[in-house]
Order: sequence, then structure tokens, then C-alpha cells
Amino acid sequence: MSARPRVFVYREQIEELLRARGREAEIRVPAAARELDGGEVFHVSAADGPNIHSAGSPRRATIVVRGLIDTAGGDQDLRADTDILVVLRERDSEPIAKAYIAQGDNWIPADVTPVPMRGESAARSSGLLESTVLAAKSAAVVGIGSGGSTIAVALAQAGVGRLVLVDRDRLEIGNISRHACGFGDLGRRKGAAVADLLRGKNPAVDVAVHDIDVVRDSAALSRALEGVDLVIGATDSDASRFVVNQVGLDLSITALYGRVLTAAVGGDVVRVRPGVGPCLACVYTERFLVSRPREYSNSAEAAEVSPAYATDADRACVQVGLASDIAPIAQLITKLALLELSRGGGGHLEALDEDLLSDFYVWANRREGMYEGWQRMGFSYDKPSILRWYGAELERRHDCAACGASSARTTGFFGGAR
Ligand SMILES: [Zn+2]
Repeated sequence: MSARPRVFVYREQIEELLRARGREAEIRVPAAARELDGGEVFHVSAADGPNIHSAGSPRRATIVVRGLIDTAGGDQDLRADTDILVVLRERDSEPIAKAYIAQGDNWIPADVTPVPMRGESAARSSGLLESTVLAAKSAAVVGIGSGGSTIAVALAQAGVGRLVLVDRDRLEIGNISRHACGFGDLGRRKGAAVADLLRGKNPAVDVAVHDIDVVRDSAALSRALEGVDLVIGATDSDASRFVVNQVGLDLSITALYGRVLTAAVGGDVVRVRPGVGPCLACVYTERFLVSRPREYSNSAEAAEVSPAYATDADRACVQVGLASDIAPIAQLITKLALLELSRGGGGHLEALDEDLLSDFYVWANRREGMYEGWQRMGFSYDKPSILRWYGAELERRHDCAACGASSARTTGFFGGAR
């Protein structure tokens, strides 16, 4: 015999509806429901439910809030033109929820699981992370493609309280194989789609979405980043990354940047702590950029590896490489981000401060291209090989146009703004 169906409802909605009943004998609220796994699982929410992307088939549901009528089978008299009936009562100020699934003329009782929308999902990671510290912190992710979306999800899951998403692209077919979102989000703005994904992972997260062309409108980017604790630059071109770098320096916000090289042969990560270490322009000098192959970021280049029937939108986002090639870059950025955000909170993460001394990290996915000459991994651990992080010691360049001593934006040696 199969187990009773399970009905998931939102605890805050139940409490709200019980309060709303007031002196009314009974209130009925039309609700939305999704049926999953052949009727084993149902998700039910009132109209203004949390914006969580849900799979399954739509079903009609009704939530009935009644007074306390404590009789066995007391709900059998309820007649509703609906597939799922959720009945709410209160006893000794404790909410009681029952649910029934329509089957022919009968109601099959189901088990009800209230889902807490505030606080408790992040609390699961407490002990590992200082969740109260992270809940008070905010991070902006600029560019929410394959890398940015993965990082945003990880930060929301860790319990970071506020996330600011900046992107103006839409999710196209060519993105899906490497993006955190799926086919159900095709055509949507990446910001809106990822925001829903984040709420699905952590309903307590506060997400702001900004549709900004960062290269054309750095002033809008500056407004969007105002007040955030950390910026993650995950856009797909050097031009956009340099804009984020300048805005981050101007606002004095610590920033992390990731790149995946052409054909995802490897990638690198830069950490910029304004006034402390090098900035992105100190690291990505013109000479450096020429020496490292760049990724596909325009449709002309991408067209060479795209089939003839691909649309321009597809081509613009075709990049060779798998999600597993992006993952190491996203993972290190996530670690560095959590380290920055939790610093001073006295948690386990701070031990990483002793190891993550570098502001520039290199990763090789394959022994190919510029990594061709690296020795085979084999059993060695003392020579450069693939699938390991390497930190490089880099100085801040004092002639850097973005952050150097000659820049009008920096504070001078004696403390005065130059
Ligand atoms: Zn610099």
C-alpha cells in the first residue's frame, strides 16, 4: 500500500490566514497547487505565495479556515469545487492543518508539512558558518551567466542575507547546459530567473535585480552597488570587468573576479581589496591579456563554432566548455566571498585567511594549450599540474591607471586625497 500523499503548505501563510479569520465563522481562500510524482506530493500556496518556481501539474486547491470544531470527520461536510482541500484551525494558539485530496466523490486524507519561509533554512548551515553574520551581509553579482548564477546560488544557500543581481541578458538555449537555471526559464531575463532560483533555495533571501548595461552605464552600476559588502564580477568581457573594477574601487568595496579561458582550458580568479592589494587593472595589464587567450564574448568569434542555424542570440552565448569546467572557478570565488563576508564573526571559515594569501589564482582544467608543458599529474605534488589552484604573489602597480598613486581616486601616502 502506498504512503499517504504529502501536502506542503507555507507556515507563514497558515498563520496569516488564521489571523485573517478574525470573527468570521469560516473563510475560504482559493489557492494554487502543483501535483508531483503521480499524486504522492502536492505543493499548495495562497495567491500571494512565495515566488518559487515549481514543477508538476497545476491543480485547484481551496484553503478553508474554520473555527475549532473538534469532531471526528468534521471536515466531511465541506463541499468545494476543488482538487485539494486544506483545512486550518487553531487549538490553544497552535495551528492545526489538515489536507484532503479529491478522489471521485471521496476525500483522501493527506499528511501536511508546513514549510518555514523565514530563518530556518539558513539555520541548517549554522555551526559550519556563522549564519547570523552572513544574514546581515550583502553581495552583488554582476554578470549572472554560468559562473555568476552558480556563485549566487551558493551564497544564498550559505545564508547571505541580501543579493544584488546585475545582468541584462536573457536566458537562451545555448546557456542552459552551463547555467544554474533550466529550460523552464528560457527567454527570461537572467536576473529574474536567478532571483526565483535563489528564493527557492533560501526563501529568506532579499534579492534585488538590476537590468544594467554596465559598459554603457557605469553610473547606474554605481547606484546598484551602493552599500553592498562585496562585489563579484562575473561578466564575460574584459571591458565590463574593468568597469566593475573602477566602480568597486570608487565605492571602496572588496571585489572578486573570475574568468574562464577560451575552450575552458582553465581560468583565473582575482581578489581586489581597495587600497590593500592590486586591482584588476594591476593584474590584467595589456601585456598579460595578450599572453592569455580570452574567452568567446562576441558573436563573430562564437559563430565560428556554431552551427549555421544558430541565431545571433545563441551564438552570443555559445562558449565551449562544460559546467564542470566553470565549477572550480565558481567554487573558489564562493569560498573567497564567504571568507570576506564572515570575517570577524569568529567562525571556521576564517582559518582560510592563513591559506588564501594571494590575490590572484590560476586553475588549469586540462594539460592543453598554455598548460601543455605542465607535467602529468601522476603522483607528484610539487610541480605545476592540472586541477589544482596556484596562488601568485602580485604587487599593486603604482602606475596603475585605475588604482595607482597617480590616480585621483586614491588616498595619498599621508592620508590626503590626491
Ligand atoms: Zn590597479
